[in-house]
Amino acid sequence: MDTQAFQHLLAQLSELSGKQKSLLVAALHEPPRRNDLEGAVPDLQRCPHCGAPSAQLASWGWSRGLRRYRCRACGRTCNGLTATPLAHLRKADCWRSYADALIRDLTVRQAARHCGISKNTAFLWRHRFLQAVAEHRDEHENGIVEADETFFLESFKGQRHLPRAARRRGGVGATRGTGKDQIPVMMVRDREGHTADFKLTQLDAAHVQDALQPLIDRESVLCTDGAAVYAAFARRCGITHRVVHAKPGQRVREGAFHIQNVNAYHSRLKNWMARFHGVATKYLVNYLGWRRMLERYRDAIRPAYCLQEAVGRAMQHVIGT
Ligand SMILES: [Zn+2]
Repeated sequence: MDTQAFQHLLAQLSELSGKQKSLLVAALHEPPRRNDLEGAVPDLQRCPHCGAPSAQLASWGWSRGLRRYRCRACGRTCNGLTATPLAHLRKADCWRSYADALIRDLTVRQAARHCGISKNTAFLWRHRFLQAVAEHRDEHENGIVEADETFFLESFKGQRHLPRAARRRGGVGATRGTGKDQIPVMMVRDREGHTADFKLTQLDAAHVQDALQPLIDRESVLCTDGAAVYAAFARRCGITHRVVHAKPGQRVREGAFHIQNVNAYHSRLKNWMARFHGVATKYLVNYLGWRRMLERYRDAIRPAYCLQEAVGRAMQHVIGT
């Protein structure tokens, strides 16, 4: 509260009745109202407005159950949710239970019932909660690195105007494999479990290189099924490339060089996605991120970690891969 408003408040105190005065005194002695969000939302490392380091953030009371700060550098106030995907969502007291719904892989309808919110809210929250999660992938892989692609049927689910005739939900595409209605997702995983996946506009040398070049250490050994796009990338970047021929259902190992970890990941991903009966292509990256989050923590996952991921500030120390 600024000085002027405070003076105004002080001036009004003389108008209070005796009963009101004692209520006010009691309220002043109560600890600040907070919900269980405080503690779940990690501390700010810098001002979300101007980027000033956290030392510049002075305590500035409480808002919506969270500690509020004022930045000495830019003068603006913020809390742990400012400029995050959760910033303007309501019903913060239900967020923890919503995070729990994500951990339990609940559908929108089940999540709505689980949290006592409407179906529309559950749908909106799903994609707000997953917005930052979708961005959180490992950025560096080394050693033996496996890469392979899988495909998801293009879907305009939920869109009012379909650019083509409707398909039965989760149905079969007109073309198989690399047809126009198949969206390629490239999965890259090293033996320490670092995982990155990419929804590609097209499975061609340019897109593959854009994704892999900043990710894979030059000293790595890249294992793939030998598709030309990977060979071209490895050649151009001078990375050792081992071609392993493993068709689905066939277990071919050449010692340590195989792509069974990415293939196993693909099948866990597909099995898990089946419960959503085909996901809209525009939300596909959110589901990929959701799956990565579940795999990142495995059994250790908790609603608090999920909330930290949702505000884009996952705590590194809890991530065991
Ligand atoms: Zn600032």
